[in-house]
Amino acid sequence: MRVGPPVVVSVPAIVEKAHALFILAWALVRSLFAGLFGMRRGLADFQRSYAPDRLAPVSPAERAAMPTFGGCIACGLCDVGEGVRIAASRGAYRGTMDLMLASSRSMPDHDAALASFAATSDTRLAELEARCPTQVPMRRIAAWVRAKGAEAAREVRDVTPSAS
Ligand code: SF4
Repeated sequence: MRVGPPVVVSVPAIVEKAHALFILAWALVRSLFAGLFGMRRGLADFQRSYAPDRLAPVSPAERAAMPTFGGCIACGLCDVGEGVRIAASRGAYRGTMDLMLASSRSMPDHDAALASFAATSDTRLAELEARCPTQVPMRRIAAWVRAKGAEAAREVRDVTPSAS
């Protein structure tokens, strides 16, 4: 029995290229003929595939609103006075700027954003909106995260086999 470092076999570049071309060609053929043989999976299957990644579908109205959510310039003004809420949240809430700049922008992370938003309120967000130099619509972003978070959780539940 051989003892020692693993043997590394290098694959010639031409074999790697041929392999990549084969995969691309196969994907093209499948894509072109899938419709003919009833292999296209459709929107419902597509949504089911992405549900475990917590990627809920976005409606045209939501898509139109999304560009208005990205105006934060990281000035930090909305974090002023948030120390007590941050400390009380025991790590769930890192301040409003974090929510506007990071957590709310990634749908797979909306469950963490939901826990963070729970440490503040729409009343407080309205106060902070008034001091935001770029008029970030904080309450609308909170509503978006709550809606998409709930939708994603529902879809994950629907595709997860029950334990019973
Ligand atoms: S006040 Fe507005 S621009 Fe400044 S960090 Fe907060 S959300 Fe961003």
